Amino acid sequence: MSTTLRWIGTGGGLNVALGNTSFTLRSEGDRTLLVDCGFTVPGRLMELNEIESITDILITHLHADHIGGLETMGFYRRFASGHTGDMRPKLHLPTEELAHTLWENALKAGLGHTRDADGTPIDAHLDTYYQMSIGLNVEIEGLPPVRLAETPHVHDTHNFCMYIGDRVFYSGDTIELPPHEPEFIFQDCQFGRSGPSEIHISYERLRDELPPEVKAKTHLVHLAAGYENYDAQADGFAEFVVPDQNFEF
Ligand SMILES: [Zn+2]
Ligand SMILES: [Zn+2]
Repeated sequence: MSTTLRWIGTGGGLNVALGNTSFTLRSEGDRTLLVDCGFTVPGRLMELNEIESITDILITHLHADHIGGLETMGFYRRFASGHTGDMRPKLHLPTEELAHTLWENALKAGLGHTRDADGTPIDAHLDTYYQMSIGLNVEIEGLPPVRLAETPHVHDTHNFCMYIGDRVFYSGDTIELPPHEPEFIFQDCQFGRSGPSEIHISYERLRDELPPEVKAKTHLVHLAAGYENYDAQADGFAEFVVPDQNFEF
C-alpha cells in the first residue's frame, strides 16, 4: 500500500506567497488527513476542489499559520457542505490542554455562537464542528500510524513533531535537529542564526551539523521569503519543497 503526501503550502508564517506549511496524506482508502490548517489553507483547498474530501485534520501547535483556517473550515463544512454528525471532519489534537487553549484563546470568538439546522441559536463548541480525537498516537483507517512527540519552538507553548509510520518525519515548528533514521525528513527552518531568539532551527545549523547522509534526505519546508537566495542542493539538502509537490512512500 502506498501513501501520497501532498504539500498544500510550504511557506513560513509570514510568507503567504507559498501558502502556510500544510500537507495532505492519502492512500487507497477514503480517508484524507490534513496536517495543519493555517489561514491560507481553506482557500487553497477550495481552489483544488478538495475542501470536502478532508476527513481528518491534525494540528501540531497553535500559531495562526497552523490553526488560522480552522474557523473557515468549520463553518464551510457545517454550512456550505452540511456536514454534521458523522460527516464532521475528525480533529486530532495531541493533548486536552491544547484543545482547551485552541478553543478558549483562538476559535471561540468566531465559532462559539451559531445556529442549528432549524435556525435556533446555539452555544457551540469544538465538537459542534469537529469530531474530537485527543492523543499522541493517531490511527486513521488506511493510513500509516502517526505518532506525535513534543518539541521546543516558542517558550511556554506546546508544540509537536510527527512520525508517519517509521519512514517519514515532519518537524512541525521547532528549534531541534531532526532524527537521523527516517527516509523522508520534512524540516522547518529559518535563515540566519539568531541565537537565543531562534524559534525555528536555522538553515545554517542544519547545513553545518547534520551528517551528509541525513542532509541528503532532508526536505526543507516552512520557507521564509528570500529562500530563493539559497541553494539547498548545493548545501547538501534534498531540496526546498514547493506547493503541490507530491511524495510517495
Ligand atoms: Zn509555523
Ligand atoms: Zn509556530
